[in-house]
Amino acid sequence: MKVQFLGAARTVTGSCYMIEACGARFCIDCGMHQGNKAIEERNRNTKVYYPSNIDFILVTHAHIDHSGLLPRMVHEGFEKNIYCTPATGELLNIMLQDSAHIQEMEALAERKKYNRRGLENPPDPLYTVEDAQKTATLFSTVDYHNTFEPHSGIKATFYDAGHILGSSTLYLEVTEDGKKTTLVFSGDIGRPQALIVRDPETPPPADYVFMETTYGDREHKNETSSHEELAEAIAYSYKNHEKIIIPAFAVERTQEILYCLHMLNKAGKLPEDIPVFVDSPLAIRATEIFERHKKLFDEDATELLSQGENPFALPNLKYTMNADESKAINDMSGSAIVISASGMCNAGRIKHHLRHNLWRKGASIVFVGYQALGTPGRKLVENAKSITLFGEDVDVAAKIFTIGGFSGHAGQSQLLEWVTPQASQGAKIVLTHGEEKAQDTFAAILKERFNIEAIIPAYLEEVSLVANEAPQLVQHEQMAHPPVDWEFLIGQLDQKWDIFKDKLNTIDQRPWVEQTDLRDQLARADYALTRLISRM
Ligand SMILES: [Zn+2]
Ligand SMILES: [Zn+2]
Repeated sequence: MKVQFLGAARTVTGSCYMIEACGARFCIDCGMHQGNKAIEERNRNTKVYYPSNIDFILVTHAHIDHSGLLPRMVHEGFEKNIYCTPATGELLNIMLQDSAHIQEMEALAERKKYNRRGLENPPDPLYTVEDAQKTATLFSTVDYHNTFEPHSGIKATFYDAGHILGSSTLYLEVTEDGKKTTLVFSGDIGRPQALIVRDPETPPPADYVFMETTYGDREHKNETSSHEELAEAIAYSYKNHEKIIIPAFAVERTQEILYCLHMLNKAGKLPEDIPVFVDSPLAIRATEIFERHKKLFDEDATELLSQGENPFALPNLKYTMNADESKAINDMSGSAIVISASGMCNAGRIKHHLRHNLWRKGASIVFVGYQALGTPGRKLVENAKSITLFGEDVDVAAKIFTIGGFSGHAGQSQLLEWVTPQASQGAKIVLTHGEEKAQDTFAAILKERFNIEAIIPAYLEEVSLVANEAPQLVQHEQMAHPPVDWEFLIGQLDQKWDIFKDKLNTIDQRPWVEQTDLRDQLARADYALTRLISRM
């Protein structure tokens, strides 16, 4: 059996394990890569997936970093079954269409830019709404704990991962040449005590465990005081008549925030007249799906429901569906709570809200989820003095709050608790879905506690699993990280610098108006160069 890591290897996004076993080639998750331009280029270079050559796909949960490339696979020729839980299927349906809509809009904007510049061949969208709709016809849904056989010799079972509605940890039993190998793929492991969803389940012991390590080096700070922290952020900006901007995933995090605001309101800790906007068409549809799957809620949420309360209801709650309503929020004066996506501020309406509020003293930006390296959200959490939005630098004067208690991910000790039953029975452990520091820290703990040498695979790396043998790793470093050709770039720059100096000799003979134009352009180039140097 062979497993190749097509994403979330020494990073958190793009989750995808490509597996070859029992004569089948299948993958677990097919997530979108998020980060800088070079990382996101991986979303287009989907040849390494050989999409028309995949026999089936298993999806752990609906987050885009685990599912966002499914329509791309369909676009490139995949047309077999996609297995997931029923709630995941419903969430995927709306999330992938939303993602496709964003892809189409971005491609349209790009095409206009190309036209204005007289350039040809603008890039096509990564995939279209039609691709996303076709993807939904391939879903085959299976409830938790119901073992199914997607291919002869391969049995699969979903367990509740307690991360978002419908999220799962996957247990696989693979029988090749009469020998059975068992594997666990953690998916994203939830935080016990999270609102709405149940605590993560313990899957059966396995020979190999592939686990996420997002918070492998950290505990969530002040996990129990998150409600008070949110109340504090609201009070701060309410007092200043400014807005509270909460970047949040439309699914789960938005519903958790609503739940929390519902509780604060009940406790009299929410200003009575403050409007709350959920500025995400996706979030309203997601909330409807949550309401349809109440049987998956944890005890506290079930208790509220049994008392006839709707945990997502608030007196001044407004859902904004179209762009005009969204823009009207920014024209409105006074304090308001705005919950909008994306959660990492790299796409969607949240970028407009940041542009309008980030530079305002007295406003608050409240982070309630993980911020991946390279995203604007990460820069804000790490106290950037300014960030670039729509190609323009925007000052950060708003107060930045980071609340750990809403995270959908287990913290370090919770991850350790999750893996202990596996580690103490001698499972081989592979760490994925984490940045290097988190993974190294967690690997060191596993070594110290259980004397286990965890494997930390790199992007595109392959591992062969042979019973009773140490896993064999094959690297593809050149393909994974093509080296930057600095020599070529510097050569080009040197050449231009020579031409520039040459032309400078006669510049003072040009008409004065032309000279002032050129001077202004040079000042802009100088500004760009200064920014570049300060980033180096
Ligand atoms: Zn997730
Ligand atoms: Zn994830």
